Amino acid sequence: MSRGASGSDTIAAIATPSGRGGVGVIRVSGPLTRDITRAIVGSLPKPRYATLSRFSDAVGEPIDSGLALFFRGPRSFTGEDVLELHGHGGPVVMDLLLQRVVELGARIALPGEFSERAFLNDKVDLSQAEAIADLIDAVSQQAAKGAMRSMEGAFSKEIYELDELIVNLRMYVEAAMDFPEEEIDFLADARVLSSVREIEDKLGEIVRNAKQGALLREGFSLAIVGKPNAGKSSLMNVLTGRDTSIVTTVAGTTRDVVREQIQIDGIPVHLVDTAGIRVSEDEVEVEGIRRAVSEAAKADQVLIVIDLSEHRDDWKATLDELTESLPADIDSTVVLNKSDLVPDLSVADESVWVVSAVSGTGIDELRQRVAELAGRTDAAEGLFIARRRHLDALDRATGYVTAGREQLESSGAGELLAEELKQAHEALCEITGEFTSDDMLGKIFSSFCIGK
Ligand code: GDP
Repeated sequence: MSRGASGSDTIAAIATPSGRGGVGVIRVSGPLTRDITRAIVGSLPKPRYATLSRFSDAVGEPIDSGLALFFRGPRSFTGEDVLELHGHGGPVVMDLLLQRVVELGARIALPGEFSERAFLNDKVDLSQAEAIADLIDAVSQQAAKGAMRSMEGAFSKEIYELDELIVNLRMYVEAAMDFPEEEIDFLADARVLSSVREIEDKLGEIVRNAKQGALLREGFSLAIVGKPNAGKSSLMNVLTGRDTSIVTTVAGTTRDVVREQIQIDGIPVHLVDTAGIRVSEDEVEVEGIRRAVSEAAKADQVLIVIDLSEHRDDWKATLDELTESLPADIDSTVVLNKSDLVPDLSVADESVWVVSAVSGTGIDELRQRVAELAGRTDAAEGLFIARRRHLDALDRATGYVTAGREQLESSGAGELLAEELKQAHEALCEITGEFTSDDMLGKIFSSFCIGK
């Protein structure tokens, strides 16, 4: 283990956020916990009972008083002996307490090290440990609910069930191959193909759910592009409900990109307002336009904004012109803005959103459209949080299972199928952490907060 072996030393951290608060918590985990507890609290409190105590320094002077909570390993968060000191949440008191714990032999914990120990001691699997961080970092209620479900094992359970199907099928195929005297046609055994299909279906379902889960966590990016003065910044501002972008009547003011995050139905949407696209001689503006095009290329969805008051009759031609300056493979939505200035206009095209950033007409509908484009489904039940790392592993597993089925269908041979199933199994194990390198673990846990 690159980050210090579990169990060998005792770690400590202030688990509550820095600053002042009613209560501040110091957390300690490891073999010295009992000695540290006795030294600070005077005796070892009954495990799992909150005990009102005085926290003393080296000469017996009180540092603070509060609740001491002792958890005897393995019945603790980390699986080791754990102490929590709930004192007064002032930075000086917390520092003094932490110093005292360090004096007594603990070292300051690395970010995520408590969760890492919980993982190494089999208290949680990797996706559950990640969900702890995702719950803390959740930016919406849905994300928090999804993280909570993952933390309780909803996502892992799906993975374990799927993995069991894969492992069973592989064992079945390998057992049959142990009798090489007869050439076995696995295709003739309907059970094999139907099991592979069942695995593929289940994988497909998990991938769909995990995509929703990743959307909750990572969000959806939306770039706003259009000619100068089309109302891009105004649209950004009504969508965010804040004055983020500079709105002026002088064309070409947003020369760089402005980023904001909003939430639509619990989905984090990363909005990017870009410089207006037009032919320009101004060096700074040309750079802004170049960045706008590059942001459009990176975004999940591009809102192409057109000023209706200017292009009432030729908005289609304007759209073609803008589309030409943008990368060919983007997903885009057309927004005709300033509808308040052309009240008698009706646009029959359902793929086009007619709005007014100033009066607010059509903005709610546009928000709903964005949520749909982001892939929101109403299936809030059964939702779990997922990370891009999980999607990658699921994608690889899908590739192996599909390749295995194709091998089976084309040759009826079992060896290749068994090998692909093995690879699929290993990809799935990366999600739960059974086959994850130390580097990867270090990377995952170091992004956690201190004290977690
Ligand atoms: P950008 O250059 O595309 O970012 O455009 P701005 O958002 O800066 O808007 C340019 C001008 O158009 C400003 O004077 C805005 O107040 C005005 N504007 C933007 N949207 C609307 C709209 O829906 N209706 C009206 N009447 N004016 C708008």
